[in-house]
Amino acid sequence: MCHIVYAEREREYKNMKVLVVNCGSSSLKYQVLNMKNESLLAKGLIERIGIDGSITHEKIGLDEKFVVKKPLKDHKEAIMLMLEALQDKQHGVISSMDELGAIGHRVVHAGEKYAMSVMISDDVLNVLEDCIELAPLHNPPNIMGIRACRELLPNTPMIAVFDTAFHQTMPAESYTYALPYEYYERYKIRRYGFHGTSHKYVAERAADMLGVNLMDLKIITCHLGNGASVTAIKRGKCIDTSMGFTPLEGLVMGTRSGDLDPSIVSYIRDKEGIHLHDVIDVLNKKSGVLGISGISSDFRDLEDAVEEGNERAALAIKVFAHKVRFYIGAYIAEMNGVDAIVFTAGLGENSAQMRGVICTELGNLGIKLDLVKNNVRGKERIISRDDSKVAILLIPTNEELMIARDTYRIAKKYKDTI
Ligand code: AMP
Repeated sequence: MCHIVYAEREREYKNMKVLVVNCGSSSLKYQVLNMKNESLLAKGLIERIGIDGSITHEKIGLDEKFVVKKPLKDHKEAIMLMLEALQDKQHGVISSMDELGAIGHRVVHAGEKYAMSVMISDDVLNVLEDCIELAPLHNPPNIMGIRACRELLPNTPMIAVFDTAFHQTMPAESYTYALPYEYYERYKIRRYGFHGTSHKYVAERAADMLGVNLMDLKIITCHLGNGASVTAIKRGKCIDTSMGFTPLEGLVMGTRSGDLDPSIVSYIRDKEGIHLHDVIDVLNKKSGVLGISGISSDFRDLEDAVEEGNERAALAIKVFAHKVRFYIGAYIAEMNGVDAIVFTAGLGENSAQMRGVICTELGNLGIKLDLVKNNVRGKERIISRDDSKVAILLIPTNEELMIARDTYRIAKKYKDTI
């Protein structure tokens, strides 16, 4: 490549704007980042796709939000509306679609096929279609978003970043269920794990904050939001995680049961006289802390109810914390120690009370929370006592930044080859 073209390319790469798209069944979240300094330029949320539709678009630094309500038939119409908002005269951050150097798509399930992010091609889309049966709620809207973007921006490189990818390093003893082995061979029934982008991001940040190479650390990351999972990370690699074949396994969650004796499923079906799929619905949508408390899946409501003396809300919080401690203990044993424990996501970032309950009386394991430093919300901070052998960190997650970084890296490589 001649020097002038090379210099132009370098300039283009440095100023690349990356769009990150996260499509749910009836919603679409997006962000635009300038990769020169990884700054956020705009973000938005489109809701009620297929119902009546609305967009809330925010240009960072502009006080007012751009809110539009209009019918949105499908994800393609939602993406068209997002592109209009991004080019809006007042609230927009690009003057034409050509300014978007690449698009990163969050995709939930890639089965065993991809252990890292990939450039999207027809072959990749076929793999994602094959994974629909593993993630019937999540992969179809992800695929719809990708197809719509490809149709509207056929020349823009698109990259898929998978929730499952980071967990592909788990050894067989972590991911194998004790079922007839043919089920794994025939149906790919194994543990996959989710929230991988978040676990990876906070582990890397933890190493930065501690000033230690990630390869020299044993870290337990606790992603505690509405969905929740704990991951054991040794030398930068996931070796175990609490979610399994689907995001139903593991911790108690807002509305999900987490680990159960499987016999309970048919027992509920018989006792309640309902269909199997309705039982699964109960486990996904009516269980967790909502099920125990009978009040709410939101920990803010539960903490308020505890203040008013509600015993079931108190029990729900205790059961949740018990399960997090259970996994922390298991992963300390699996890794033969731990150097750092990280709290992230809605609850992990915001609830000093929950972090306090989880970390109570772990002093013999070298885990000592500093109650003063712990009194913080949503900020990166080391919250362990100076005499704690294990560092405890609060790190707000940033899955979008992680997706943008992978997208930028892969798009740059691709552009260099054309
Ligand atoms: P996420 O799924 O990461 O968006 O997390 C959402 C959950 O975080 C909510 O359902 C709440 O349970 C929890 N959460 C958010 N803010 C707080 C807070 N200030 N105190 C306690 N829990 C919170």
